Amino acid sequence: MNTIVSVPKVPAKRPFNRLSPVPLKAVALSDSFWAPRQQVNRDVTLPSQYEQCETTGRVDNFRRVSGRKECEFSGIFFNDSDIYKLLEAIAYSLPGEAKLSAMADALIDEVGAAQDANGYLNTYFSLERKGDRWTNLKDMHELYCAGHLIEAAVAHFDATGSTSILDVARRLADHICDTFGPVADGKREGACGHEEVVLALMSLYRATGEARYLEQARYFIAAHGATPSAMYWPSTSAPWWDFNRRYHQDHVKFEDLHDVVGHAVRMMYYACGAADVYAETGDARWLAALKAQWSNMTERRMYLTGGLGARWEGEAFGDDWELPERAYAETCAAIGSIMWNKRMLQVDGDSRYADLMELQLYNAMLAGLSLSGDQYFYQNPLADGGTHRRQAWFGCACCPPNIARLLGSLGGYFYSVDQEAVWVHLFAQGVARFEMDGGAVELRQSTNYPWDGDIRIEIVEAPASMKALQIRIPAWAKGATVQVNDRPAEDVAVGSYACVQGVGAGDAVRVHLPMEVRMVTADPRVFATAGKVSLMRGPMVYCIEQADFPAGVDVRDVALSPAAKVDARFEQETLAGIVALRTSGKVIDRSAWDGALYRDGGSVSYAAANVDVVAIPFYAWANREAGPMTVWIHAT
Ligand SMILES: [Zn+2]
Repeated sequence: MNTIVSVPKVPAKRPFNRLSPVPLKAVALSDSFWAPRQQVNRDVTLPSQYEQCETTGRVDNFRRVSGRKECEFSGIFFNDSDIYKLLEAIAYSLPGEAKLSAMADALIDEVGAAQDANGYLNTYFSLERKGDRWTNLKDMHELYCAGHLIEAAVAHFDATGSTSILDVARRLADHICDTFGPVADGKREGACGHEEVVLALMSLYRATGEARYLEQARYFIAAHGATPSAMYWPSTSAPWWDFNRRYHQDHVKFEDLHDVVGHAVRMMYYACGAADVYAETGDARWLAALKAQWSNMTERRMYLTGGLGARWEGEAFGDDWELPERAYAETCAAIGSIMWNKRMLQVDGDSRYADLMELQLYNAMLAGLSLSGDQYFYQNPLADGGTHRRQAWFGCACCPPNIARLLGSLGGYFYSVDQEAVWVHLFAQGVARFEMDGGAVELRQSTNYPWDGDIRIEIVEAPASMKALQIRIPAWAKGATVQVNDRPAEDVAVGSYACVQGVGAGDAVRVHLPMEVRMVTADPRVFATAGKVSLMRGPMVYCIEQADFPAGVDVRDVALSPAAKVDARFEQETLAGIVALRTSGKVIDRSAWDGALYRDGGSVSYAAANVDVVAIPFYAWANREAGPMTVWIHAT
């Protein structure tokens, strides 16, 4: 398990937020679900990604610019960002990890050596392409790469106190601040075609207190939707102007953007940046837009798994209810949403944000990683014929290090504080120790979540100023109960935080979240899933996979009765330990369509024999022999 090496202080609440997140360094997980995955992240994922970055020339691109190696630029023009995301991921996992620390130092040395005297840093736009710098903000990801460097630098500074890479990032950030801004200030107008840089500048602002980074972040968001566009410069105008502007969220101003559109990962990072700026400036129009975007996404444009981006073309959100099972659902988009929802949660403590964060953690994000820790999904379809398999790396390798940095930073998503209370957003066995206003807090969670819904939260230490625990009761947890020292708590409502008043050091709170298996149906306007059901238990979405069925039965022909009794049982030996669901179902008789795509008649018939149905968590699919899989199952 990771350990708490010092007791960090919770940072001051941002001016317009209600909550302040308890930092990563305060939380150590020792559960049987996340802690082993964090161990695999440190032992397998991060070293193998480091190796991939070496063998694919990503590090050499820096050596080439610094003169340490003679070679051609290799890979895609935004490959620098993979190095930065890997460095960020390593930083989150650092305490007590000498091997990882050496990797971080090596990367920092290579990156720093490639920086220009004026602060500019991007290995693609160096040497022979130096003259093309900042000529296409729409497509060429210079600001995006800069954003990932800044995030890595802040993470490394937080973890180590060293400014070795923070200094590099600040020089680049200062160069950006000097370059882009209102023409009246003697600068060039600009907006980023992949908005990562905004949330990164906000991280840098919070790490350094330097107001110009906040102002630059606010400027970059406000520059969207300008006439003429601040990112579509004359040389980059295209015939599909309007389509392209939607793709980059540049067709309207942020305050007028009331749905989630365009490239899904960009949209999520954009929303993260706007939420960060809102927390400092309190622009009510931006908060209203953020909430409208969130509603549009969750009510009309999101998969059951929390996957985002229906369209393969443009890696983009579709229209309302356009959710084909051949989802694009890029792993990075789910991660971006988890980051956004963490930010929204701090604004007002609405449990819906934490519910979604949890859904995406266990489903849309986690499916992106193999159980072995070194194979990745870029797209996460909800049904497949057996050809979609995880890969060890990608030419465009955004997803692998994104998963690694999220797993490394997971502890930072668990808790928040306000003046009087500690808020418990997520559940996993482990310890949290931190300083809030008034003194030190130590909480211990004992639970076998997510397989079991019983959670014991022990308050080991708390200052007198801490008057309550706010505990999330997920919307799915009908019948949830909370007991304080064996006395039932009042006002426990699902889909909200249970406010447990009058607790202090020595008290223990028991939370019971019923883990009933739920059969789920989609809004009928989602054509792809009409007439189908899906199985959920707690935060987990289930699927059926061919490996659990006899050879003559295709899982895509399986049908469940909505009244079927479903058993749930923990199986230690299956897929590294899962709760599997078991029931009995029918199999559609396809013979009536032999030789024909369509036939007369309005119903299907079923084979005489029932089939034993086994469902596994969606995240665990494609870890056995290849075969069809589906989340949505026909209903009889
Ligand atoms: Zn990605």
